[in-house]
Amino acid sequence: MAKILIVDDAKFMRLTLTNILKKANHEIVGEAENGKEAIQLFNELNPDLVTMDITMPEMSGLEAMKIIRKDSPSAKIVMCSAMGQQKMVVEAIEAGAKDFIVKPFDEIRVLDAVTRVLN
Ligand SMILES: [Mg+2]
Repeated sequence: MAKILIVDDAKFMRLTLTNILKKANHEIVGEAENGKEAIQLFNELNPDLVTMDITMPEMSGLEAMKIIRKDSPSAKIVMCSAMGQQKMVVEAIEAGAKDFIVKPFDEIRVLDAVTRVLN
């Protein structure tokens, strides 16, 4: 069981991830809808893991991850991408993302990634 921060500008995506993760007994400690909020909530909540959407208004997930990892190099961040974002996924992994999950979310893949990154 981990404390997880969910970051996505789409409410439906946050809801989908919340349902999947809660079923596996994880605690959703916060939700953010852009990169700026993500940084703020990360610092406030100190979650065990962050699911981070790539494309968001105000500040992208990629940018937010880089800033979070500068202060907290051990932050565990799983990127959430849409189909066709391979280039950004590669950039995210190079910048320190621990794994990525692709939308539409598949429950088993989400839990696999989260479990692997937490261990
Ligand atoms: Mg998005």
